[in-house]
Amino acid sequence: MPELPEVEIFKRYLDATSLHQRIDDVDVRNAYILKETSARELARGLKGRRFESSRRHGKHLFVRADGELWLRLHFGMTGTLQYFKNDEQALRHARVLFVFANHHRLAFDDQRQFGQIGLLKDVDQFLKTRALGPDALDLDLAEFRKILGKRRGAVKSILLNQQLIAGIGNIYADEILFRARMHPATEISHLDDQALTKLFRATRYILEKAIVAKADVKQMPKSWLLPHRGKGGKCPRCGEKLRSAKIGGRTAWFCARCQKKR
Ligand SMILES: [Zn+2]
Repeated sequence: MPELPEVEIFKRYLDATSLHQRIDDVDVRNAYILKETSARELARGLKGRRFESSRRHGKHLFVRADGELWLRLHFGMTGTLQYFKNDEQALRHARVLFVFANHHRLAFDDQRQFGQIGLLKDVDQFLKTRALGPDALDLDLAEFRKILGKRRGAVKSILLNQQLIAGIGNIYADEILFRARMHPATEISHLDDQALTKLFRATRYILEKAIVAKADVKQMPKSWLLPHRGKGGKCPRCGEKLRSAKIGGRTAWFCARCQKKR
């Protein structure tokens, strides 16, 4: 499920492939993922324009077309981007394709169709309407403390709450808590300033390193939780069998020995 690091990688991919080319056509093969727009509106809005720049906020990617129109992409569970020329290269679940003047296409591929595509005039307004919190990599320590310092609830649920901080999902929340050596069910109001600082540093560290690893688990350090996460997995730090629990409706993986509740 694409979280901040994956979406950042999609952003860099789109920036490297799809900017500054005239959009000749928009081929909507499945309108289900269109939100607050129709296939006709999308084509009418974008045909003849160019994508000029992009901006990521949390798990959202916004792509600006000339004339101040923004394409909104949310990757849901299985969304991904593919830039290609020949049909035989295409992924199997291309839902919407942006066809460029050079005959290359940018496909939004999404097997399970929890992804979303929309059109917007004003990104900041959209973020406000959705009440999304600041991007997890845009925060400094003071803001982080301010946002989390007066909350109650399990630390993992707090990290997953997009209205507080945008971008962290189930996988990276577990990784951050593993690095900070905190049990995911730790009551956040029990964390003192020092513990919040530790959590902030772990958040930045994990998200930045995951981007460097291209959000590819094969390129992530073996000392991380992610390569071991799942049934039968062992803690790369102490060798203890990893455990799972439902916290905030999601499955958390953690090491009960290294990650103590406070
Ligand atoms: Zn351990």
